[in-house]
Amino acid sequence: MTETCHGRCFCKAVSFEILTPIRWSVTCHCESCRRQCSAPMTTYIGVPDTQWKWTGAAPKVYRSSPGVERTFCENCGTPLSFRSENMTGLMHFYVAAMEEPERFEPQLHVAYEEKLSWLNISDDLPKREGPKVVISD
Ligand SMILES: [Zn+2]
Ligand SMILES: [Zn+2]
Repeated sequence: MTETCHGRCFCKAVSFEILTPIRWSVTCHCESCRRQCSAPMTTYIGVPDTQWKWTGAAPKVYRSSPGVERTFCENCGTPLSFRSENMTGLMHFYVAAMEEPERFEPQLHVAYEEKLSWLNISDDLPKREGPKVVISD
């Protein structure tokens, strides 16, 4: 079933909506995500480009490495999304920016070899090395 879900930055200037079903929900430990979110890890959802749109002001775009664009609100600084040429046709929105983050429980960890040593993960989700998202089911 298709449902509309909403997300936004802290100050509400930038907002977006997505249509379910999403492609995946993944917790990433890579240094780039940690740096952008200024957090020890982040969880993001993959949404096909045909299933999302900005609904408020457009965010600023920061190119963090070749082929990778990361967005944030230029007013409050909230990180919102990233996209990579390696995963074409998909936007990845940070779950913490969603109105209902509880809906998007992650399915796996990626870049687990970059996990901070003091971060203790006790779930039994798959823990993959490298940034590539591969869902096997
Ligand atoms: Zn904002
Ligand atoms: Zn990452």
